[in-house]
Amino acid sequence: MPPHLNLYLAAPRGFCAGVDRAIKIVEMALEKWGAPVYVRHEIVHNRYVVDGLRDKGAVFVEELDECPPDRPVIFSAHGVPKAVPAEAARREMVYVDATCPLVSKVHIEAERHHQNGLQMVMIGHAGHPETVGTMGQLPDGEVLLVETPDDVATLEPRDPEKLAYVTQTTLSLDDTAEIVAALKARFPAIVGPHKEDICYATTNRQDAVKAMAPHIDALLVIGAPNSSNSKRLVEVGAKAGCSYSQLIQRATDIDWRALEGVAGIGITAGASAPEELVNEVIDAFRARFDVTLKEVETAQERVEFKVPRVLREPA
Ligand code: SF4
Repeated sequence: MPPHLNLYLAAPRGFCAGVDRAIKIVEMALEKWGAPVYVRHEIVHNRYVVDGLRDKGAVFVEELDECPPDRPVIFSAHGVPKAVPAEAARREMVYVDATCPLVSKVHIEAERHHQNGLQMVMIGHAGHPETVGTMGQLPDGEVLLVETPDDVATLEPRDPEKLAYVTQTTLSLDDTAEIVAALKARFPAIVGPHKEDICYATTNRQDAVKAMAPHIDALLVIGAPNSSNSKRLVEVGAKAGCSYSQLIQRATDIDWRALEGVAGIGITAGASAPEELVNEVIDAFRARFDVTLKEVETAQERVEFKVPRVLREPA
């Protein structure tokens, strides 16, 4: 008889509406224009998803100049600096922007503050495509990046009275609250979003991990090493008391020895990880344990985003 194991499954987990839409955009573009369709950057941060789309005829590139001008190009869900669609238009390319509408909302916010004469502070991770895209909405030097509360002390704004901030959508809620508090303490006049820019999907996935934490000793987060929201889920699990909180890409990454003797294990998945990978991990546990599966649901999600009109129109 295999040993018994309580497996807790976070809900919500996995795909968010922005990822779902971005994948649909590539699939519909392939249907409409045939292969190859070019995609600038990984459409979403998940190798399994990217490989699946590549098999259907998508070609992933890093920069626009790698795309021929006569094939459609899609911009990833993370958003792009303004210079990228401008260059595509200059080259008269057909392009579809798969930027998540919740990221576009942050772009619009940044632009509005800039037009009102405020210098922007972005709370985010240097080099992440979303940070690069949001900072690239404004001219160089107009957006100051802050990654930690300590960075706030060294900020040198043009005018401390004329500042606003935006955030990356996939940050840790608690860490971001600390940075915002540091910004407000040093720059009391700083203007922020009514509700922070961290999106509903990030918030819900982190809340579900926190609710699951008291029942589990170990947490496995299914996601890619370059997925910001997945890495934040690992941190949230560790902060909430899981002595073992680990990112895995799929079932073959599970370190079974590290889980020996653990009575309760939690599973969640980042916003770009498909449910197939969650099922694969559950099946791997079922092959070794007598599993009791319990879902910990903290929210229900009904958010859906429409694909751009160009893909809804006939070819
Ligand atoms: S994580 Fe949030 S902001 Fe990012 S694609 Fe999903 S819904 Fe959009």
